[in-house]
This record gives sequence, C-alpha cells and structure tokens, in this order.
Amino acid sequence: MSDDLLKKVISHAKEYGFVFPSSDIYEGLSAAYDYGQLGAELKNNIKDYWWTAMVRMHENIVGIDASIFMHPTTWKASGHVDAFNDPLIDNKDSKKRYRADVLIEDHIAKIEAKINKDVSKAAKRFGDAFDEVQFRTTNGRILDRQAQIDSINNKFKAAMDTEDLAAVKALIEDLEIADPDTGSRNWTDVRQFNLMFKTELGAVSGDSGIIYLRPETAQGIFVNFLNVQKSGRMKLPFGIAQIGKAFRNEIIARQFIFRMREFEQMEMQFFVKPGTQSKWYEYWKEARLKWHKALGFSDGMHRFHDHIKLAHYADAAADIEFNFPMGFKELEGIHSRTDFDLSQHEKHSGRKLRYFDPETQESYVPFVVETSIGLDRMFLATLSAAYKEEALEDGSKRTVMSIPAPLAPVKVAVLPLVKKDGLPEKARAVLKLLKLNHNVQYDEKDAIGRRYRRQDAIGTPLCITVDHDTLTDNSVTIRDRDTMIQERVSIADLADRVEEKVGLEQLFSDT
Ligand code: ATP
Repeated sequence: MSDDLLKKVISHAKEYGFVFPSSDIYEGLSAAYDYGQLGAELKNNIKDYWWTAMVRMHENIVGIDASIFMHPTTWKASGHVDAFNDPLIDNKDSKKRYRADVLIEDHIAKIEAKINKDVSKAAKRFGDAFDEVQFRTTNGRILDRQAQIDSINNKFKAAMDTEDLAAVKALIEDLEIADPDTGSRNWTDVRQFNLMFKTELGAVSGDSGIIYLRPETAQGIFVNFLNVQKSGRMKLPFGIAQIGKAFRNEIIARQFIFRMREFEQMEMQFFVKPGTQSKWYEYWKEARLKWHKALGFSDGMHRFHDHIKLAHYADAAADIEFNFPMGFKELEGIHSRTDFDLSQHEKHSGRKLRYFDPETQESYVPFVVETSIGLDRMFLATLSAAYKEEALEDGSKRTVMSIPAPLAPVKVAVLPLVKKDGLPEKARAVLKLLKLNHNVQYDEKDAIGRRYRRQDAIGTPLCITVDHDTLTDNSVTIRDRDTMIQERVSIADLADRVEEKVGLEQLFSDT
C-alpha cells in the first residue's frame, strides 16, 4: 500500500461520484468533503450494516438520534471544555500551524525508519541465518536509536502530564525539528488549542449564549440514559446506539476523509453492572472485530492496538486499526469508560442517573463500555481495500472496485444488448422487478464490454444482460463482477439470485 494508492482512490472517487471536495467550484474547503451520488449510497449501506448488527441483532440495544446542539454544561461535565485540547505550534516564517505532538511523533517515525532500514540491510546480508529479534536486541546502533526514541517519549510524556508546554517547545528545539514544508526552525511557543467549534445561540449575546457543535455523539447518549432506560423499560446490561455528525476543529486535517473537521460517528454505549465491565469490554472487542472481518477484506488488514496511556475516564481501551493506504491507523475505538460520564452528569445536573437493580435491590451508577467507529474512515477503508487494477487474460486492463457486495452503491445494472427490437422495454421490466429492494441502474449506451467496465469501476456486483433470446425464453445473462463468469438465469429466479449475492444476510452467516 502507498500514497500512490491513496491518490488513485481520491481521483477515482471524484471521477465516479463517490466523494467531491466541498464547495468545489470555489476551489474547495480544506478537510471538508461532499459525498456524491454513489458515495451517499455506500455510506447509507455502511450505516445500515452497522445499525442492523448493533440494534436489530441485539434485543438489548436500542438506537436514538440526539441533537447536535446540547446544553453547554454537557461539555463542562464531559471534560471537553477543559481538556479536549491539542498542543499547537506555529512556524513564524512559513506561518504554518502544526500539532506539536505530531511533529515529535514524525521525528520518532524517522528514527524508527532508520532502525528498520538497518534491519532489512542485515536481513539481506545474513540471509536465512538472520535472527531479527537477536539483531534488534544486541546491535549497538539499533540500541542507541531505540534509547533515543525512549528518551524522547519519556520527555514528551512528562511535559504533557505536567502541562509544561515550554518543555514541549524545548524538546522540539533540542531535536532540531524543522517545518516539514520549508525547513525553518523559527517556532512560536506551544499553546493548547481546544478542538470544539463554538457558535452563538439565537437571541442570547455574550458568554451565556455560547454553544458548541458536538465533538462526539456519545454525550447525546449519556444525557438520555434515564429517558431511554425508563421509557424503554431497559434492564442492565443494555446499549444505546447512535449515528450522527461530530465536529472537531482539527489543527491539521489531511489524508482525504481520514481526518475531517465535520465527520460522522457510529457509537454505542453499553451500560453494565459495575465489576462486569472487563467481561463486556472483551466481548465488544471481539464482536466488533468480527463485524469488520465479515466483510471479507483480505487477512491481515485489521489489528488491535491496546492503549497504554489511558484517557482520564477509561480503565481499558483499544483501537481496531485498519491497513489504510497510509499504513495501519485507527478505525474504531473500544473504550471501557467506567462510570465517569454518568457520574459527571449527575454532579453537574444535580439529577440522579442511577439504575435500580431489581435483583440486588440497590441503585447504582452503571459502568459503560463504548464502541465508536468513524463512518468516513470506514468508507475510506472500504474504498481503498476495494480498488484494484487488473490485467485480464485477453491483454486488456480493468479497474474494479471489489466493494463487499452488500455495501455496493449500485447492486445491479440492467443492460439491454441493443437499443432496439423491444430489448430496452424488456430490460426496464426486469429493472422494475428489482428496484424496490435494491439500487439498480439502467444503461443502454455503448458496446456491452464498455458498459461492464463502467460497472466494474463503480463496484456493481451483478450485471444483467437482456438479449434477443430473453424475449422468448424469459431468461437473462448474469455476469459476476469478481469472477466475470456469465450465467443464464430465468427471470422468475432473478430476485432470489440477486438477494443471495447482495443481501445483508451473508454478513450474518454465523450469528
Ligand atoms: P484520532 O486519534 O485519529 O484523532 P481519536 O482517538 O480522537 O482519533 P475518538 O475520539 O476515539 O478518535 O473517535 C472515535 C472514532 O471517530 C475514531 O476511531 C475515528 O474513526 C473517528 N474520528 C475521530 N476524529 C475524526 C476525524 N477528525 N475525522 C474523521 N473521523 C474521525
């Protein structure tokens, strides 16, 4: 995987109507994107898969849709007003703004790259006899470099833990880190930058009118804990799920839709009895990985990354990382959030947010295990894993998006072989049979081979061709996107055949 793949995916996404830069006619707005006609379909299908897996397949999980604006005290209680910050630094010459932690991480990555280079050189030199673990733990140069990394990490952690921003700047200067674009080392002081977007509420002026765009959907769930528990007569353990927009004023937003300032999250908060959280944490780690793997991306595309440094509210946390074109990066987080959020909301609202346990006859604040996935990152994972350029046996080439069939934006294309002899009418009758249940496209322009290529390029799993024989035998040819095998199928069996290929059911085969 490479940057090259990312570039190809970005231009393919624009060319075929998956993703456009926002406000494109005004040269775009950085880190904002619009989903086009195919992108909106793919996004809806991902949401549908998530909602089905989380809400419909679990009797004890329900879904809500909370508002983006929330009472400002919400964000005081959650800790976002005081602590949702990134350390920011500006370069005085280039006027470019960076995250200080990212500059330091990139510096460490360069040292790691040198270590890896030494290892691969040695591997070549020693051939089969090479013992990588031994080499890494005994080679002097590597040990020196590793010691450098450890020292940088320790200094950075100590500075951040004590909020000593001058020490962060000193570290950047000591390491002689330069502006990656211009090479200048003329830095401003480091300061904390709050990632929440602020705006003002209607008629109220001054500080009391300040309101935030939510930086996560989770708080909309916590403040509704009692409403849902009581109105839905929910018994612990139970979950509340939600899909919605979140906003973060990221200092550097880059890598296409991986890091945006406006994005969408699919989150589920699972409320459990205190003391049972680690069992549920393990359960959800496994369940969520299974959800990803059911999509059939090739082996080794996912891995867990356990957090060593935990957020103040968590007693365990892990990411599911995906092998994006830029390497393994966070796609989803699973966090054991203790009773932090509900207790904080109790404190700030003065309302009891407790569960009365009918078995033990006690009231307590439940603990929470959260699963939180970025919809846009899931979209990028799907697109980048699907993009393939294939050389065919006849010497020609095709670009095919092997999007998992249930997620594909267009499920079926119906193609009359020619534009006459009653074939278009017959093709439209076939289309009518399918369009209520599936997104189906009709295409009669150009030679059939070119039409197949167009459908391959947008990831349509099935093409149905209507030919002259169809008029007499009521059968059509179905072509499979991945195998390119063509088969004759009776129109009477078509709905079942299509459902078998593109229905969500196949993703739940072992549940
Ligand atoms: P990162 O470390 O990459 O900034 P995070 O740890 O801050 O992410 P969380 O707060 O755990 O992310 O948010 C949950 C999920 O929301 C992430 O796993 C990611 O998929 C998604 N997400 C977070 N920030 C963004 C963003 N700026 N753009 C797109 N998706 C995002």
